[in-house]
Amino acid sequence: MAINLPAYNTVLKQLAPYGAKLVAVSKTKPVADIAAFYAAGQRLFGENYVQELVEKQAALPTDIEWHFIGHLQSNKVKYIAPFVHTIHAVDSIKLLQEINKQAVKNKRVINCLLQLHIAEEETKFGMDTAEMQALLQAWQQEPSAFAGVRIVGLMGMATNTSDEIQIRKEFHQLHQVFGSVKATYFDTVDYFKERSIGMSADYAIALEEGSTMVRIGSLLFGERNYNK
Ligand SMILES: *Cc1c(COP(=O)(O)O)cnc(C)c1O
Repeated sequence: MAINLPAYNTVLKQLAPYGAKLVAVSKTKPVADIAAFYAAGQRLFGENYVQELVEKQAALPTDIEWHFIGHLQSNKVKYIAPFVHTIHAVDSIKLLQEINKQAVKNKRVINCLLQLHIAEEETKFGMDTAEMQALLQAWQQEPSAFAGVRIVGLMGMATNTSDEIQIRKEFHQLHQVFGSVKATYFDTVDYFKERSIGMSADYAIALEEGSTMVRIGSLLFGERNYNK
């Protein structure tokens, strides 16, 4: 097993002064690796693939808080709606509506983060600020139509670069957009408070730029092999 418990303990120590949460990203990794982190006390795990998440959820303890962190297709929401705790990458009103529909069907409320496009790469998913405004306006006009979802914050992925100034600028931008969205739409509620930023390579910068949730995979579980 290639899991790295010393790295896990180091990350927890780094997060503590910020009060930030760790989502341990277990995609492509076996149930046994997740169970090992569970035994060490970890309860928040992140997955990217619906089928894989469904199988792992069935095999592991029920008090795990599952976070779906990848791009989610609307037609697959129904498979994870019975148990998923938080969906990180909501990037359209259509997806939010479908999450709401499936949550209501399951008599649940699912936490959602809106994905803001902050990277320079065209290929990364996420909304620009105008698209996010449009989504939030639709939500604000008819809150009762979204009783199954709770918008708890924003999520973003920085450019895949070694340029720390660039990464910092992108995380900073997310924090600023978070502040204006909070002031405009969530001023009177306390649940809108999350900034899901930071991965293995850039989480230290993300913490300095206001992360409340880091999503760390390879540092804890070892490199992923997609051709397994
Ligand atoms: C895979 C993934 C991560 C974790 O990436 P690492 O570099 O392995 O820490 C975080 N966030 C998202 C959205 C991912 O897809």
